[in-house]
Amino acid sequence: MLLCAVVLCACQPKQQTSFQYNVDKFYDLEILRYDVPEFDSLTLQQKQLIYCLSEAALWGRDILFDQNGRYNLRIRRACEALYLNYPYEKGTAEFEVFEKYLKRVWFSNGIHHHYSEDKFLPEFTQDWFVTACEKAGVEYDEAILPVMFDPNVMTKRMTAQDGVDLIAGSAGNYYGEGVTQAEAEAWYAAHKDNSSEPLWIGLNSQLVKNENGEIEERVYKVGGLYGEALEHVVYWLKEAQKYVENDQQRAVLEKLIAFNETGDLQLFNEYCIAWVKDLESRVDFVNGFTETYTDPLGITGTWESMVNFKDLTATERAQLISENAQWFEDHSTTDPKYKKEEVKGVSAKVITAAILAGDCYPATPIGINLPNANWIRKEYGSKSVTIDNLMHAYNEAAKGNGFNEEFMIDDEIREIYLNYGAQCGDLHTDLHECVGHGSGKLMPGVSKDALKEHASTIEEARADLFGLYYLADPKLVELGLLPNEEAFKAGYYQQMMNGAMTQLVRIEPGKDVEEAHMRNRQLIANWVLAHVTPENPEVEIIEKDGKHYLRVNDYQGLRRLYGELLAEIQRITSEGDYPASKEMVETYAVKVNQELHNEILARYEKLNLAPYKGFVNPVYTAIRDAEGNITDVTIDFTEGYIDQHLRYSRDYSPLPDVN
Ligand code: ZN
Repeated sequence: MLLCAVVLCACQPKQQTSFQYNVDKFYDLEILRYDVPEFDSLTLQQKQLIYCLSEAALWGRDILFDQNGRYNLRIRRACEALYLNYPYEKGTAEFEVFEKYLKRVWFSNGIHHHYSEDKFLPEFTQDWFVTACEKAGVEYDEAILPVMFDPNVMTKRMTAQDGVDLIAGSAGNYYGEGVTQAEAEAWYAAHKDNSSEPLWIGLNSQLVKNENGEIEERVYKVGGLYGEALEHVVYWLKEAQKYVENDQQRAVLEKLIAFNETGDLQLFNEYCIAWVKDLESRVDFVNGFTETYTDPLGITGTWESMVNFKDLTATERAQLISENAQWFEDHSTTDPKYKKEEVKGVSAKVITAAILAGDCYPATPIGINLPNANWIRKEYGSKSVTIDNLMHAYNEAAKGNGFNEEFMIDDEIREIYLNYGAQCGDLHTDLHECVGHGSGKLMPGVSKDALKEHASTIEEARADLFGLYYLADPKLVELGLLPNEEAFKAGYYQQMMNGAMTQLVRIEPGKDVEEAHMRNRQLIANWVLAHVTPENPEVEIIEKDGKHYLRVNDYQGLRRLYGELLAEIQRITSEGDYPASKEMVETYAVKVNQELHNEILARYEKLNLAPYKGFVNPVYTAIRDAEGNITDVTIDFTEGYIDQHLRYSRDYSPLPDVN
């Protein structure tokens, strides 16, 4: 499962102000760069391990291109060859249009939009392309022409359209030509493993029709489909074995190597279990066929890799909060009868991404929660992590994009937000995750499911309010988690502005708020606005020069309101008061003020921000001695988007055109 970005806010500047977060922008896409803080704090052995794992990650790039469409490698290679041997003057409008197309192909790992699934058409003509290739001496397979230029060919990477054969309607390459949805489903049904520890049949294979018209599996493995790439992956996983931190990590690598060599799904299960158990290592990674979102039947995994290591500072912060869980529980505004006598904090793991690849690159999740097999999750647990450095890159890159200037009411709050926004954001997330969800208890006889369809909105509101209430508590300054007693204002202002106004930029005009986290945020903000002291409002929305802004007049008063709502939400939860939860959600969380919504959308559109973001990776270089041993690993952040993709295509492209 992927966790996607939920809050996008600006944040405090880092020491290293020269770091360039913004790299490039084209169409609806923006390319960012992420920092890898604490890389220098790693031991040489950990750096060596990361180097080998990052090589294993990069060697899988071609696999995803081919999974996304059987012509993608041919199209990418033809365009790259034309780009490198461009026969006309560069820097012209014509050149830019062509370059933009190639940049988009790289971003999407193919010719379909990574999010909408729609094929994007070049803004240059087929004639122009054919002539340019001829002039440049670029050879290509003519079969790519209709795939690139005909709007009716391979229109969707994956279709979910009713009444359409899902396989025939999808360009994704999980099924060979001529395989129908019915045939594939019949094959999966016949081979399904119904045991209590089932093999994930189909995870690592393409289904094709043989010459007798029978369905056959082509397994992704060394010596099988994508073997030319997996050989390199395995080579680097074996190199990584030399630098493991402990035996558990060694076991993870052993199982993964064996799985790639054989395609044996029993080994994949064993690998997943070993991986879940590896909790001590600082370095961790995902490498292989993982998420199944782009197979129209939801069975085969797309290839991805992410190498990461534990962010010690952030993990310590989370730990400190967990250790004080009982104090937080005892001092909250909730009725003592709803408090837990003995509460345990949860320690969340925060990681730093070191390299992104395959389906994690350039667009990437900000959290991972794996493995996906339910029986393993149930029996052995799962690992859920948030990726701090990517969040920070989003936040840093958002600075100066005009968002805060447009929506925050004055320089004073913008200044506070610039200084403490990021810190408040991190801290609020920690309070929410480490103590918020775990606080409180249900009254005897109240079922967990009592709040039915409103349960998740109410639960998220409970955790958020717990965090908000404590964000302004002197205890946090005392614990050294906030620098002073003014910093919390950044978090308070952001919560109110986002919940009441700016999160609406993600809602289409006329639509209601649906998603539980978004509902929770609007619930809190709108409830507070409806419960202020009428003659002297603690917080309000005012109009200035025809635009609406949120204004906080009394931060301590706002804290008191958060505390009141926390007490009520805890009561609803503890009592399982379904009617009250329904009333609360329906009154404050769902409906949108149309006029305000339209105004916000119009103001947001003028900022011209790209809705989708992706990254370039840092470059790791191994320094070797005369015998070839790695004696150091350096990290460099200067490579640009185009150079990175051209280099990857030159140095890490082992697959043939047709697989
Ligand atoms: Zn939550």
